[in-house]
Amino acid sequence: MSRDEITVDIIDRFQREYPVDIYGMAQALKIRVVEQDLPDTISGKIEHWWRGDFMITVNSRHSRTRKRFTIAHEIAHYVLHRDLIGEDGITDNALYRDNRIGDIRERQANRYAATLLMPKSLVRRAWNEGVNDHQAMAQAFDVSPAVAEIRLRELGSVFWSRPQDTLLF
Ligand SMILES: [Zn+2]
Repeated sequence: MSRDEITVDIIDRFQREYPVDIYGMAQALKIRVVEQDLPDTISGKIEHWWRGDFMITVNSRHSRTRKRFTIAHEIAHYVLHRDLIGEDGITDNALYRDNRIGDIRERQANRYAATLLMPKSLVRRAWNEGVNDHQAMAQAFDVSPAVAEIRLRELGSVFWSRPQDTLLF
């Protein structure tokens, strides 16, 4: 298997139950996760660490759900933008932006992060198990209500095929 196939395989393995174990996913990808007391304006960063492996640093002052999102966002950079993680790494400010990598890639990373934490198949399962609004979804997936709301809106069409649910979105 190529490195990309292995990555996809590992991610897939961690998307079989919710809440997604994002720390376990990072570890399986050989990405070390550390917490550091960073300024409020920094969410986290990803950088080369050791022999082709990477390290993610998250802001220890942030909430648990925020840290989980930051880790997912940095994993997204690892998957999508690995070649752009230079000597200095990628550092994300509070709005998940690194000026050198550009807004389009940051939006890609945010989108991908949301799919890592709330994959469609699991959201659908949760929905069928009675998790039917964004607050409950946020709890079930251990994400902030804002992330759950955005992701549910994005996935709206998945549920629109079931007319009885349409009104909830
Ligand atoms: Zn970023």
